[in-house]
Amino acid sequence: MEGFNSQLQEHLSTLEQLGLLRSLRVVEETDGTRITIGGHKLINFSSNDYLGLASHPAIAAAMGEGAQRWGSGSTASRLISGTTAEHAALEEELALAKGTEAALVFSTGVAAATGTIPALVGKGDVIIMDKLAHACLIDGARASEATLRVYPHNDLEKLESHLKWAREKHPTSTGARVMILTESVFSMDGDLAPLHEIVELKERYGAILFLDEAHAVGVRGTGAQGLAGELGLGGQIEIQMGTLGKALGVSGGYIAGSRVLIDFLINRARSFVFSTAPSPAVAAAGRASLRIVQSPEGEALRVRLQENLSLFASEMKIAASPSAIVPLILGSEERVLHETARLQNSGFFIPAIRYPTVPRNTARLRITLSSAHPQEQILRLAVALKDSGLRV
Ligand SMILES: *Cc1c(COP(=O)(O)O)cnc(C)c1O
Repeated sequence: MEGFNSQLQEHLSTLEQLGLLRSLRVVEETDGTRITIGGHKLINFSSNDYLGLASHPAIAAAMGEGAQRWGSGSTASRLISGTTAEHAALEEELALAKGTEAALVFSTGVAAATGTIPALVGKGDVIIMDKLAHACLIDGARASEATLRVYPHNDLEKLESHLKWAREKHPTSTGARVMILTESVFSMDGDLAPLHEIVELKERYGAILFLDEAHAVGVRGTGAQGLAGELGLGGQIEIQMGTLGKALGVSGGYIAGSRVLIDFLINRARSFVFSTAPSPAVAAAGRASLRIVQSPEGEALRVRLQENLSLFASEMKIAASPSAIVPLILGSEERVLHETARLQNSGFFIPAIRYPTVPRNTARLRITLSSAHPQEQILRLAVALKDSGLRV
């Protein structure tokens, strides 16, 4: 016991020396854009609640009513007795929103990815993924035991050369699968994948596409379409993944696709089969959020977010981000920790994103904007960044 704990302590000390130690900060209060940490009120530019829905009264009320009706827990795995009418309705509504035949809800986006990828590919198959893909796509790929090839971020030439290699080694006639993994909006850079081109390459080489829309849903396209829907590509993408935890302001993950894909995952995705279903109250809240995102109110929130992004871009004299994420890449861990602390002293909460979340030497401040930020908060942020000599 003693030796074990001192080993762990040694590891943490090394992380601290490298500027890579992380710790939890307790939020004592929040109203959406302002949070209180350690008694200090800070303007929050760290959350993925892009439309301010995490504090929407109607969604919170739906969660409360869901709990009144169904109780607090789902009591079992979805396959045993954990599928309530609330889960079933959420899945129908998600499929409608995505324009797919069916959808399947998981407890988190991470569970959706780590359960789905190894269910669909394995030994003898190939996964080709973007270098900057989220950790859950990497974990799913590793767990699958498929041969893994990585292409530099958004590098279509390298993607194509991997596809060519994969199809020479594993011709379509062998039944081997080649799966491309990418995000549509990249979580730490805020840029977009060249989706038209990726879909075209996928078709040409008989591959399948797993698209992670975690940061696109509610921000790109209308309703909960995401980038695939915005570009009219939804029907050509085999596996569309997303989360209810970001712009939708609740929690949970999902896969949308064909009926047979969903039936297959119900049988084969281990994070689905062996996990207690999300609380029915959470499913009820997810439904309420989905309704709002697809309503004129949701459209107005998206317009408001766009206005905030434009305002911030014009104040900082940069091009507006195609997503709600604006990275400020500073390089070293030391520098980013210094700036994050300085900004915190000026009343702003902006996270220092470091290795291993991003590659080494690309430590950054990750600024996220929301429709809920009053313009005055955005102007104040721009002034604080400029005063610190920080440029995007
Ligand atoms: C947050 C995130 C996930 C995981 O979703 P959760 O619902 O938070 O588990 C997956 N992919 C990307 C790109 C993400 O940013």
